[in-house]
Amino acid sequence: MAWMQELITRLLTELGEDPDRDGLRKTPARVERALTFLTSGYRANIDDVLNDALFSVDYNEMVIVKDIDFYSLCEHHLLPFFGKCHIAYIPSERVIGLSKIPRLVDVFSRRLQIQERLTNQIAGVIRDKIAPIGVAVVMEATHLCMSMRGVEKQNSFAVTSAMLGAFRDSARTRMEFLELIKLRSVLPGSRGTPASTACLDED
Ligand SMILES: [Zn+2]
Repeated sequence: MAWMQELITRLLTELGEDPDRDGLRKTPARVERALTFLTSGYRANIDDVLNDALFSVDYNEMVIVKDIDFYSLCEHHLLPFFGKCHIAYIPSERVIGLSKIPRLVDVFSRRLQIQERLTNQIAGVIRDKIAPIGVAVVMEATHLCMSMRGVEKQNSFAVTSAMLGAFRDSARTRMEFLELIKLRSVLPGSRGTPASTACLDED
């Protein structure tokens, strides 16, 4: 039996289960497949993902892709956090094929993450690949490590954002984006839940 399946069998025993009972016999193999898929971002190559989908343009209006579903695993508890990702950028000379943007989100989501780093990595790779005038990423997520364990504020979303270039430097550009995604929680004067309270890093 493969190493990972042995570990999962051992884990089932440690949790007080009988790994030999009918319902659990195939569980180690299933968990191995599931975890391998859910962490496949470590083995993905960004350039392969973007493969020929960078185009030169003479265009510099804001490009927005809203409501991208994402699913990730929190690195503190190995439990899911998931929600919506909204991305905007202002091209300088190049754009990314629209269908590739959710794939970029998948590459970084399918790793062990914290929401802040995930948000920054998505913004960073867009900056690095097409050198836009600005890029903005906002993520809203529910953390099962919080809701399933009954931690306070269990029904709230955690909101994180990364604003680079024009989105950092120009309040007007930033507001235009936030208005377009209708995300009141990160507008000044409103109350969002800082992501750092979403997955409490307690011992
Ligand atoms: Zn967590």
